[in-house]
Amino acid sequence: METGCIFCSIAQEKTATELLYKNQNLVVFKDIKPHAPVHLLIVPKQHIRSINDLTAADLPLVSELIVAAKNMAIEVGVKETGYKLLFNVERGGGQMVFHLHLHLIGGWIR
Ligand code: 5GP
Ligand code: ZN
Repeated sequence: METGCIFCSIAQEKTATELLYKNQNLVVFKDIKPHAPVHLLIVPKQHIRSINDLTAADLPLVSELIVAAKNMAIEVGVKETGYKLLFNVERGGGQMVFHLHLHLIGGWIR
């Protein structure tokens, strides 16, 4: 838990944010400012700043984020129509919350 980190607070259920899915390693919730009809964030509980900070030890976690995204795509009905998975990396990559997260974006076609 990183003090002042909004995604740490959400992951620790210290805010009112509804979690659509959680397990011991990650949580999933809706983006507060969605860019598409479906816009979910898949967020590890562990505070990792960005993709730049990943090490080989984090490989299972990264795989788990991707599989969780795929499962959520099924859950919200965009598996067949398709979706984007996106990591923004650091300021130049559009990252604004410096706690690793995977965007699941879609739902334009139903
Ligand atoms: P980034 O630009 O860092 O890749 O994406 C951060 C995302 O988190 C943005 O799309 C933003 O709308 C979302 N976000 C920021 N603060 C909150 C929050 O407090 N709650 C939720 N649900 N989403 C947030
Ligand atoms: Zn954090």
